[in-house]
Amino acid sequence: MRAMEELIRTGLAELGINAPKEAPQLLARYGQALMEKNQVMNLTAITEPSDVATLHMLDCAALLNCVGLGGKTLIDVGTGAGFPGVPLKILTPALDVTLLDSLNKRVDWLSEVSGELSLTGIQAVQGRAEEMGRNPEFREQFDFATARAVAELRLLCELCLPFVKVGGRFLAMKGVDCGSELEDALPAIQALGGRVERCFDYTIPHTGVAHRVVIVEKTAQTPEQYPRRWAKLQKHPL
Ligand code: SAM
Repeated sequence: MRAMEELIRTGLAELGINAPKEAPQLLARYGQALMEKNQVMNLTAITEPSDVATLHMLDCAALLNCVGLGGKTLIDVGTGAGFPGVPLKILTPALDVTLLDSLNKRVDWLSEVSGELSLTGIQAVQGRAEEMGRNPEFREQFDFATARAVAELRLLCELCLPFVKVGGRFLAMKGVDCGSELEDALPAIQALGGRVERCFDYTIPHTGVAHRVVIVEKTAQTPEQYPRRWAKLQKHPL
């Protein structure tokens, strides 16, 4: 755990992120809990401690270099084992985080680990994004939505943009080679009340891995007919 903590500490410094003093240790504890639970439940394909520190924790931390999250609300759609939502919460204690995933077991573990790390202002919710996005308690209630490794961008926009308030942002974590995926998503983004604000590229510290955040601004309310059911939105992408 010491090695993970050190990689995280130096990586955060390299990213220029001014994290709370206890954040590297908390992130390493979270990584350790993830690796332990992964022995009995499928949570992540990344199993080496150094990779957990870099490809999970520092990858998610880099998001803080493209937007300010303090005092805001964020929903992490298809959070899985908590990425990027949990690292963002640890690094920005004043951020209110909702972790959404369709798998009950993952959501239960997220509630458990949030308690173990004494995190407050974080809720793990079980549900499908395309259904929760129609629920008035969730629809257009968040300053930010995030998603990493969940679906192709044009589908992902239909799952995520309904959660975002007008004036908020959807942050899609992608590879730097997502150019044609982004091109294909432009009609969907427009139909859902968004516009591409910009892309933010970064390299994960201690790796040569380059990733991209596509930042979509919500400029108008999402029309009532979206999101559609999964079978429909997948079969007939916008
Ligand atoms: N975001 C995490 C990460 O980057 O490690 C997890 C990625 S994992 C490959 C995709 C997750 O999205 C799974 O946990 C799956 O249950 C969830 N998921 C897929 N479709 C979903 C939907 N329509 N609504 C909610 N969760 C969904």
